[in-house]
Amino acid sequence: MDTQHPAERILLGPGPSPVSARVLRALAAPTLGHLDPQYLAIMDEVCDMLRAVFLTKNALTFPVSGTGMAGMECIAVNLVEPGDEVIVCVNGVFGGRMKDVMSRCGATVHALEAPWGETFDHEAIAAALERHPRTKVVGIVQAETSTGAHQPIAGLAEIVHRAGAMLVVDAVTSLGGHELRVDDWGIDAVYSGTQKCLGCPPGLAPVSFGERALAAMDARKAPVQSWYLDVSMLRKYYTSGGGGRVYHHTAPINMTYALREALAIVLEEGLEARWARHAAMHARLRAGLESLGIGYVPARSLHTLNCIHIPPGADDAAVRRRLLEEYGIEIGAGLGAMAGKAWRIGLMGHGATVRNVDLVLTALAAVLGRR
Ligand SMILES: *Cc1c(COP(=O)(O)O)cnc(C)c1O
Repeated sequence: MDTQHPAERILLGPGPSPVSARVLRALAAPTLGHLDPQYLAIMDEVCDMLRAVFLTKNALTFPVSGTGMAGMECIAVNLVEPGDEVIVCVNGVFGGRMKDVMSRCGATVHALEAPWGETFDHEAIAAALERHPRTKVVGIVQAETSTGAHQPIAGLAEIVHRAGAMLVVDAVTSLGGHELRVDDWGIDAVYSGTQKCLGCPPGLAPVSFGERALAAMDARKAPVQSWYLDVSMLRKYYTSGGGGRVYHHTAPINMTYALREALAIVLEEGLEARWARHAAMHARLRAGLESLGIGYVPARSLHTLNCIHIPPGADDAAVRRRLLEEYGIEIGAGLGAMAGKAWRIGLMGHGATVRNVDLVLTALAAVLGRR
């Protein structure tokens, strides 16, 4: 195995997604110090661009050092403290993780479950809030990458706020690929990752906190149990307000350059155009799969992640190995309850192109002997 020269794969799995040459070049720029005024200006720019991509005015919007899971954990440890009650919507692996992370924060977690592949009606969430009137946070995944289900979010915050709770949204596989409007939709805290629809390598987790979340953090009784993810300290580094910048940890400098370049590409394309491109590539893939007789697991599919049934008779691992070895294409295996039953084809960011859709369809047809 050649460990010196990583191969140029076509990454059509659940992430990481393909990274453009522009973003890779940005990584190679000279490393600045994390308190260098030039670096701080770059970080400010990244936070501004994140606000544009999240469609929010939230001052507390920044990239957590770590992958998407660090974003999930950052929001959980800061908003949830021992004794709190929370509702987590679980219809796949990532909802399950949110439940686990919030219970590790000492919360009493009421899991609202839906079958894998399905999504939640807002009425079911309203009913859960009535059953649990002390609920502080409702956590939900917009793009459940394990099943490909697309959870509607617009309109949910009104229900959650009426019950006096906050809405936390996992937007890891939606930010930059699906419509997401943090302010218009009233989302109180949201996290994402760089390596899905933003087209950047893994390593940073964009997060944003609204007014209710800030107030909840100010009202905490117990200190945040994670030192590394404590927003009361992180904000003194990421936001310049008042007393200047205070060192907390060394930010991943070169990854910040990469994220800035990736966000510049997103904003050059335009959010609406980008959402439309992901929708069009999904439609193109779906039509091709249908002609191969391959159907989708979820009724309401994401555009960014296509979770499909493995056709009867096909050898799951052998097909994926041949796609990788003969075509250099990575697709995802089924995760959790979907293992051995589904494949996951990601069309995210730089990877959501006509060329990749037609290539994966051709390769899949050949490997399945349908040509
Ligand atoms: C990928 C993913 C995560 C976790 O992100 P990592 O970058 O792997 O830590 C969380 N939630 C969802 C919905 C994801 O798809």
